[in-house]
Amino acid sequence: MAGHPVRFRTRFAPSPTGPLHLGHAYSAILAHDMARAAGGEFLLRMEDTDLERCRPEWEALIVEDLSWLGLRWDGPVLRQSDRIDSYNRRLEPLAHRGLLYPCSCTRADIRAALSAPQEGVAFSVYPGTCRGRAMQTRAAGDALRLDLAAAFDALASADLRFQETGPAHAGPHRIDRATALRQIGDVVLSRKGEDIVAYFLASAFDDADQGITHVIRGEDLFDFTPVQVILQHLFGLPTPVYHHHRLIRDEAGKRLAKRDDARALQKYRAEGMTPAGIRAMVGL
Ligand code: GLU
Repeated sequence: MAGHPVRFRTRFAPSPTGPLHLGHAYSAILAHDMARAAGGEFLLRMEDTDLERCRPEWEALIVEDLSWLGLRWDGPVLRQSDRIDSYNRRLEPLAHRGLLYPCSCTRADIRAALSAPQEGVAFSVYPGTCRGRAMQTRAAGDALRLDLAAAFDALASADLRFQETGPAHAGPHRIDRATALRQIGDVVLSRKGEDIVAYFLASAFDDADQGITHVIRGEDLFDFTPVQVILQHLFGLPTPVYHHHRLIRDEAGKRLAKRDDARALQKYRAEGMTPAGIRAMVGL
């Protein structure tokens, strides 16, 4: 008989662009506790593909904060910045299959599309200006977009679905072509010259490479799941189970973000708060 495959392996995947706040603590503790309760594994991954905003000092502080919270992760920390060439190489077969096209639309448009989402900002659906351009016309600075309609044609016989266990969207979800074309469109996957790849692409590759069986993350990322499932099918990768959890908000109902340094874990630590106190504050 083959060895025992891991039944439950999850990860916490912060972007080291600022200090961890209470919302991150909730996400990390929840993923950690669910993994331990299932007798599974909990991994740590640094999603540091945005080289302009990520800093080694934030990464060091993340490791310090998580350790202080009492969380232990299995295996070494995976760093996406070490893997950008490999992500780009893995895109090449999609270009050969006619599923990508170069796009010269503005830098700001593309940058906004590449970075991790902010609350209230879903995909801005690309109008298709550059669709149909041949790969050979790709110039320095051009982005690569997925031709989503062509991708659906290529996946005509695929069963595009995922299982969600989070409270807000629990149940099976099927990805429908018309809805995806309307809501997602031709997303940017990478940008030449700056060596950057879309967050949801790197994350989909890493979840597969790390054998993640359960993705546990904030509800703000729910809308990215369909595009990740489409990519998994295009690259022949497995689809994990998804669990999108509630977001931690302040008294005014505003989501806590990294910019709210007032809620940084570091600050609570300095004020003498205990890890048990943090768990209680986020309701765990
Ligand atoms: N790196 C993303 C963030 O900081 C999380 C990605 C994920 O968990 O899939 O919001």
